[in-house]
Amino acid sequence: MLSLENLQKTYPPTGDGETPPPALVDLSLEIAQGEFFTLLGPSGCGKSTTLQCIAGLEHPTSGRIIMDGRTVFCSDANIAVPPNRRGLGMVFQSYAIWPHLTVFENVAFPLRYGPGGTARGDVRARVLAALARVGLQDFADRPAPYLSGGQQQRVALARSLVNEPSIILLDEPLSNLDAKLRDSMRVELRDLVKSLGITTIYVTHDQTEALSMSDRIALLNKGRLVQLGTPDEIYKRP
Ligand code: ADP
Ligand code: ADP
Repeated sequence: MLSLENLQKTYPPTGDGETPPPALVDLSLEIAQGEFFTLLGPSGCGKSTTLQCIAGLEHPTSGRIIMDGRTVFCSDANIAVPPNRRGLGMVFQSYAIWPHLTVFENVAFPLRYGPGGTARGDVRARVLAALARVGLQDFADRPAPYLSGGQQQRVALARSLVNEPSIILLDEPLSNLDAKLRDSMRVELRDLVKSLGITTIYVTHDQTEALSMSDRIALLNKGRLVQLGTPDEIYKRP
């Protein structure tokens, strides 16, 4: 289980010295093991900030984050576990795959440079297994830029899965794909993470996408939680 407790986030003042409005206001959420959980809301409502705080790439100004019983962030206790020790996979829009590396090396990256150290034979087996999960086992030796957009997103997904995370964070991973491919990849993505039993936190501003994929949806506005429920519950409310 993933718990966010009373997260508050205010970014530092901008160049003109003005303190911006808070990006997150007293946000609390409990996300169950294996749940496909979506953060939905308009641009600027705090979706990415929430994800970055879970990832450890940003820290809340105050609050607590607990993953599977382990406190990974607590402002009061000065706890801030670094991103690579939180057992997460991530696919962010800005987290492009590396063009100078092959598909294999892109996926192997977290194993080679992450914590723990993975023996060479294990790296190979795990990378090929992750590529097989996304249907790219025959593409291992290709330079990454020679793949289509959809294939590149599959590489990013394989890379996020290679460490066998218990939680993956997906920030609008399909937004750069054309509409038809996006529809098919929605299904593929949801089936994949569900079959692996991974808790998924999915960020989108697309209501249709959220309603079609999610177990539960949190609707944010101006950093506040305004609705929380299953797609049915969210859809029925005004
Ligand atoms: P969303 O992902 O829903 O579009 P964000 O979490 O990116 O929303 O942004 C929430 C608010 O925080 C916005 O007002 C945005 O301008 C601000 N913000 C986001 N990232 C930063 C940053 N790195 N520095 C300063 N302000 C930021
Ligand atoms: P092959 O490159 O094995 O002869 P194709 O030309 O049918 O086979 O391409 C298969 C896949 O390779 C395509 O789906 C595409 O994503 C990717 N691809 C596209 N352009 C190139 C390229 N210049 N070099 C290598 N692979 C490419």
